Amino acid sequence: MTWHFEKDAPYWHQAAPLEQDNEGALPEKTDVLIVGAGFTGLSCALELARLGRDVLVVDAKEPGHGASTRNGGMVGWGHRSGFDVLSKQYGAEAARAIMMEGPASLAFVVDLIKREGIECALENTGRFLAAASPKHFERLKKDVETVFRPFGVNCRIIDAKDQGNEIATDAYCGGILYEDHYAMHPGLFHKGLLAAARNAGARVEGHAAVTALDRPDRSWRVNTARGPVEAREVVYAANGYAASFSKALKPFADSLMPLPSFIIGTERLGTNRVRALMPGGRMYVDTRSSYSYYRPSPDGERILWGGRASLLPLKEEQATDRLRRHMTGIFPSLADTKIETSWTGHIAYTRDGIAHAGQLGGIWYAGGYCGSGTAMAPYLGWQIAQKIAGTAKAVSPFDVTRLRRWPPQNLFPLGRRAVELWHRYKDRRDGVLAPVDYR
Ligand SMILES: Cc1cc2nc3c(=O)[nH]c(=O)nc-3n(C[C@H](O)[C@H](O)[C@H](O)COP(=O)(O)OP(=O)(O)OC[C@H]3O[C@@H](n4cnc5c(N)ncnc54)[C@H](O)[C@@H]3O)c2cc1C
Repeated sequence: MTWHFEKDAPYWHQAAPLEQDNEGALPEKTDVLIVGAGFTGLSCALELARLGRDVLVVDAKEPGHGASTRNGGMVGWGHRSGFDVLSKQYGAEAARAIMMEGPASLAFVVDLIKREGIECALENTGRFLAAASPKHFERLKKDVETVFRPFGVNCRIIDAKDQGNEIATDAYCGGILYEDHYAMHPGLFHKGLLAAARNAGARVEGHAAVTALDRPDRSWRVNTARGPVEAREVVYAANGYAASFSKALKPFADSLMPLPSFIIGTERLGTNRVRALMPGGRMYVDTRSSYSYYRPSPDGERILWGGRASLLPLKEEQATDRLRRHMTGIFPSLADTKIETSWTGHIAYTRDGIAHAGQLGGIWYAGGYCGSGTAMAPYLGWQIAQKIAGTAKAVSPFDVTRLRRWPPQNLFPLGRRAVELWHRYKDRRDGVLAPVDYR
């Protein structure tokens, strides 16, 4: 299956273009070689360099080519699964500790951005999770009492009658406002993190795909597109851009289902018009099965609208059209609005709905952020750095989690089609006011 297309580069690349000029020889040796220069890899590199390690980060394409500069820039506390699901698998105590990693990751990334002085339009906007049907609203209200409040999540139920303060649409039935969530410009965050890692002494190189590795003695011999490198430790941070260059990593690779996520950006609408549609100025997500996530651009002039246009490969025009229909289903007044940019990126889902980090066959790994990694990816990159350095912070609640395989990739198209049909049925069954238009 091939997913890759885009009308333009991601909107974020205008303010933070990816660097193209990575050439020349790589060092022959390094303490730690990190595969992937996204949030996970760079955060790991920054911490290790500060702890005095010699670090080389290599990316198959330009540093930042992956999801880290393609996402919606919504910063939250990122688990997909709730306490009930996790406690069935790992027991109540472990589940509680894993849940608390959500707020910890959010606090970590906000602190990282402030401490490093990264200018990336970080703003405590809050996030409005909109209920797409009365049934969903009742479920959200229950979640607030049973899932969120017990974990200290700062959130508020917004009734349908007050919803107009947050968003100008009749397509929702109230929702939850997460007051501690943030917005940022992911391109500028990535750029700042890259600079911080380099300033700390890490080397970051693009166009150096890792193609194979083995460990004949105490060091790894890593083959890259720009020559071999010897490394004492290797970290795998490729998330949805997973590449198979090591059998040892197979259990991790098999536990990730790469999926495309798409974003479109409108023409310049003007801050008044955007504000009239989104008076709360929040980050927005809804509860439809094929959910939408959207926001004003950091300058407040445009709307950036994201969603999973499809679980199956789509042509560029089809995906853009679908997302436009997702958008006009919520804001009919945007029917004639021009879409100026569209792009896609890969996320990676795990079966238990949480990220995983650990070591397999001597290779460190972190990933599986289930589309919610702007906080969790830097956080787990940092945790892996602590483990490599063997510091007191090297123990993590994620240590007890288990990798669960998805069915083989060649069954995916059939499975994905079935999931899409199930989503359509579920939205109808739940009385969703503005069902996703799948034409
Ligand atoms: C469209 C979209 C919207 C999203 N919106 C949000 C959001 O609003 N909020 C949120 O919290 N999360 C969001 N996410 C998820 C978030 O962006 C990711 O979870 C996070 O960026 C993952 O970071 P990473 O460093 O692990 O992986 P990536 O940033 O994907 O980096 C992986 C890198 O590994 C490299 N690589 C792969 N194979 C090799 C190899 N063999 N050798 C060398 N390098 C290799 C790739 O080139 C890539 O650059 C979104 C994702 C997408 C795609």
